[in-house]
Amino acid sequence: MNLRNTHQKQAILEAIQGIGKHMSAEQVLSEVQKTDPGIGLATVYRNLNRLAEQGRIQKITAGDVSFFDGNPEPHDHFECEVCGKVTDIDMKYDADMDRLAEKQSGMKILRHSVLYEGICADCAEKEKKQSWN
Ligand SMILES: [Zn+2]
Ligand SMILES: [Zn+2]
Repeated sequence: MNLRNTHQKQAILEAIQGIGKHMSAEQVLSEVQKTDPGIGLATVYRNLNRLAEQGRIQKITAGDVSFFDGNPEPHDHFECEVCGKVTDIDMKYDADMDRLAEKQSGMKILRHSVLYEGICADCAEKEKKQSWN
């Protein structure tokens, strides 16, 4: 791996790393392009996937949403149907669900991820204001 590649990977990791950060590859790209305008989406994708494989970040796919999460620990998510924002839901990881699913399916369950859907507090507030007018 040459020096430029190492720098790019580091910049990508820094852009996404941190609790509560959820970004699409495109969002990571525009963040990294601030310091490295020459970087392309394919490079960002490749590095994000590699970082996810290494367990340093995670790739979350639920339904038709797919994003990268700077926090590699398993945790639940919420997606706003109005603005599309993804946030963490701070609930204790329920390992019983894995055992239950294992019993049901006969498959070895390693982990699960839950995606809650609804309307975020910001959007709910906006809707409330609109209905008053
Ligand atoms: Zn929202
Ligand atoms: Zn998260």
